[in-house]
Amino acid sequence: MSATVGRSDFDRVMVPNYAPVNMVPVRGAGSRLWDQQDREYVDLAGGIAVNALGHAHPAMIEALNEQAHKLWHVSNIMTNEPALRLADKLVRATFAERVFFANSGAEANEAAFKLARRWGHNTCGAQKHQIIACTNSFHGRSLFTVSVGGQPKYSEGFGPAMGGISHVPYQDIAALEAAISDDTCAVVLEPVQGEGGVIPASTEYLRAVRALCDKHHALLVFDEVQSGMGRTGKLFAYMQSGVVPDILTSAKSLGGGFPISAMLTTAAIAEHFVVGTHGSTYGGNPLACAVAERVLDIVNTPAVLDGVQQRHETIRAELEQMGTEFGVFSSVRGSGLLLGAVMSDTFKGRAKDVQALAQEEGVLVLQAGPDVVRLAPSLIIEQEDIAEGMTRLRAALRRMVG
Ligand code: PLP
Repeated sequence: MSATVGRSDFDRVMVPNYAPVNMVPVRGAGSRLWDQQDREYVDLAGGIAVNALGHAHPAMIEALNEQAHKLWHVSNIMTNEPALRLADKLVRATFAERVFFANSGAEANEAAFKLARRWGHNTCGAQKHQIIACTNSFHGRSLFTVSVGGQPKYSEGFGPAMGGISHVPYQDIAALEAAISDDTCAVVLEPVQGEGGVIPASTEYLRAVRALCDKHHALLVFDEVQSGMGRTGKLFAYMQSGVVPDILTSAKSLGGGFPISAMLTTAAIAEHFVVGTHGSTYGGNPLACAVAERVLDIVNTPAVLDGVQQRHETIRAELEQMGTEFGVFSSVRGSGLLLGAVMSDTFKGRAKDVQALAQEEGVLVLQAGPDVVRLAPSLIIEQEDIAEGMTRLRAALRRMVG
C-alpha cells in the first residue's frame, strides 16, 4: 500500500492539541482495525464510545449510500424526511416529546444549557440562571460546556470565567442540597461519569437529585452523550434508574461514527426555544439522520441491548481475573459496555502505560484519567474478538509487571 502521509505529518500540519498514537488506521471491519502497515488491532476503544455497531456495519453503509444518492444537505430553512423519522423514533422510544439535532456532544449540551437558561428566564425571571454541575464531569469543549464541565484545566486560560455556574461533588446529595436554590435553573449530570473515570451514579442519588430539582423548580439535565444509545444495556442510562430527566443529550453512539447529536426534551420546555432563539446549519443533516435512524433501529432491540449485559459480564470477569493475577487493577466498575479498570496503588497513574503496551500487543483500549483503563467497544462485538482482545490485554499486563 502506498501511503503518502503518515503519523509524522500530524506534527507538521495539525494544530498540536492532540497526541494521536503512533499508527494511522486505514480501515476497519466489525471490531478490528488495520493500520497503514496492515497490522491488525482488536478495537475495544470504539472511537471513544462511538462505534456502537463496530466499523463498516453493512446496514449503516446501506443507509448512508441510499441517502447519499438522494439528498445530502438542505440546512434548517427546510426540514427533511430522515430527520423527521429519526426524531419520531427518539420521541417514541423515550420520555421526550421534542428533539433538536446538532453535530456533536458539546453542541447538544450547549443547546441544553441555553434552553435551561431561557426556560428559567421566561418562567421565573433573569435571576433563575444558576447551573449546578458536578466536579470531574465532562460536557464538551465549547466555552459554555467546559465551564459547566467540572474540570478546571479545560476552562482556565480562556478569559473571564462564565458566571452563574457552580460545582458539587458527584454522588454527594448533601452538597447539592446546600448549593441548590430557587435561582437554580438546571442541575446537570452524567448518569455514568465517563471521562471522569467511568463512575455510575447510584439510583438513590439520582432519585434524590430529581426530588431536589422538583422542590426548587429546576430542570434536571442528563448528559447521556457517552452513556446513551445502548451503552449501558438500556437505550438510555436513565431507563435503568427510572429517574426521568427534563432534558437529555445524546451523541457519540447515536450516529455510530457519523457526526450527529440530539437534545431531547418535553413539549413544555421546548416551547422556550422559539424561531430564531437557537440553531445549527448542519443539525438534522439528512445523511447523519439516515445513518442514526438505522443505528437506532438496530440498537433499540432486545437482541442488542440484552447482548450488552452478557458482554459486560464476560469482559468484567476477565478484567477482574487479570487484576488479581497481575495486581494491576484494584477494581472494575462501569455499566454495560462502558467499563473502567481502576489501577491498583502499585500502578497508580499508569493507565497510559497499559494503553501503550496494549496497542503494541494489538488491542486498543482507552484511559479515563491517569488511573482508569476504559473499554467502550462495539455493542455487538463478537465473542471471539472479546476473547482475542483479552488475550492481547493479558500479554500487555504481563509485560507491564514483568
Ligand atoms: N458529554 C460527555 C458525557 C462526553 O463524554 C463527551 C465526549 O467525550 C461530550 C459531552 C462531548 O462530546 P463531543 O466531543 O462530541 O463534543
